[in-house]
Amino acid sequence: MRISDQEMLAPSDIPYSLTPPYRVKTVEYTRPTTRDQRKQLIKEYNWSAPNLPAEYVYINMVTDSGTSAMSDRQWSAMMLGDESYFNCKSWYELKESLQKFSGMEYIIPSHQGRSGETILYEVLVGKGDIVPSNCHFTTTRAHCYHRGAEPIDITCPEYYDENNNSWFKGNIDIEALKKLFIEQGEKISVVELVVPNNLCAGQPVSMKNIREVRQVIDKYKKRDTKFFLDIARISENAWIIKKYEEGYGHKACIDIVREMCSYADAIHMSAKKAGLVNMGGFVAVNDKTLYQRLQPKIIKYDGFLTYGGMSGRDLEALAVGIIEGVNDYYLEDKQRQCDVFAKACTSRGVAVFNPACTLGIWINAGKCLPHIKPQEGPGTALAVQAYIEGGVGLTSMDSLHRGREDSSDPLNTAKIQLAPYELIRCAIPRRVYTDAHYEWCGEALAKAMEWGEKIPPYRRQVLDRPPIEYSDIGLRAFFDEYEPIFDHP
Ligand SMILES: *Cc1c(COP(=O)(O)O)cnc(C)c1O
Repeated sequence: MRISDQEMLAPSDIPYSLTPPYRVKTVEYTRPTTRDQRKQLIKEYNWSAPNLPAEYVYINMVTDSGTSAMSDRQWSAMMLGDESYFNCKSWYELKESLQKFSGMEYIIPSHQGRSGETILYEVLVGKGDIVPSNCHFTTTRAHCYHRGAEPIDITCPEYYDENNNSWFKGNIDIEALKKLFIEQGEKISVVELVVPNNLCAGQPVSMKNIREVRQVIDKYKKRDTKFFLDIARISENAWIIKKYEEGYGHKACIDIVREMCSYADAIHMSAKKAGLVNMGGFVAVNDKTLYQRLQPKIIKYDGFLTYGGMSGRDLEALAVGIIEGVNDYYLEDKQRQCDVFAKACTSRGVAVFNPACTLGIWINAGKCLPHIKPQEGPGTALAVQAYIEGGVGLTSMDSLHRGREDSSDPLNTAKIQLAPYELIRCAIPRRVYTDAHYEWCGEALAKAMEWGEKIPPYRRQVLDRPPIEYSDIGLRAFFDEYEPIFDHP
């Protein structure tokens, strides 16, 4: 390795709020397409960018999961990957990195985020429990149903007020949490905080909110309630705490991450996000007995305790990537890219969810296409049109695609609740796109919007497939299909 973690953080007067701390060595060529071809393709693949063969998506912001560009440091570390089954050398590198990153003692590698969740939920969540959260991610919601527990989302009131300028709209509603403990505390096995709150426009969570959850659990618990942090993008959340929460401006992001983790009983991470790797994840705890209870589960589902479903080279890539991903200069640049992208949209009249944070940009499609009713998918329609105009792949998170099941009657699709906003998520693959790509994405969205009422509303298709099982209910969005009421322009 030419440059060490310490050297990468050396004092500098180069403004990384204006220019990246890295440069590009390998480039990936993309397949040229035409508007006619894209119009044909999106129809053929059921009107959804996530369904398209990826080679036809020029700028792919469908997800930031596993889509990072790895560094020269990571690729060179991978050559040192030790592929021994038990206790490979790469495991010790990874363990040390993850302990340094999280401050937690016991590390359990898992091949991605959800396999770590599987073992935690199997050990700690049972039938009849409730699991409050600032807003469960799709997979933890599914784990709740799978365990016979009920996921309860109590996002803070600031999130529901579009004009609120808080930087921490991803918080859990502390008063509502206290009330739940007082009324049903004996049922609360786990409180889950997602930092930042992926399904609520990627909004960050404050350190104060995390600390308060710890205090509420300690004060009001009526059983052994555990506190989980879902930390897929914790480093990016730490950057917002550093910038906007009082008392953190002088701290390194890694120290902020460690403080965040210090309040939790268990953390689980999809390292495919802020870990800057294409595959990987882990769980960590401080309690030895809990660690021992988790051990047989990871062996059952993912592999031995020192590799958890990853190859030796994957362990090496993550050992390096997790620290690169929490580097303050890198995070400053990630925020800069989001700002460039947000401006590319707002300067062209495309409504962006405010504030635009470090994780990605959420387009307020309800505002962009006011003629389409929430249940008729304004996000779905705008995302399709943007693909036709510019080859950009975006994920619709509107009421049609992501409306919530009624938790007392989750199989009844007639009871699906509207989302608070009709959003499109533009996730930002890390270190992959340049400012010109963000400008083009803003341009494609603006061109799409220009069609106004010529853009069709959508409806759900009646599908010829077996009904989804109760325990898989949260995963409906991945199977449902939609069609436009008339053709796209
Ligand atoms: C991606 C993600 C997960 C699941 O991780 P996988 O690696 O996809 O299994 C869990 N929580 C959040 C917040 C995520 O974004």
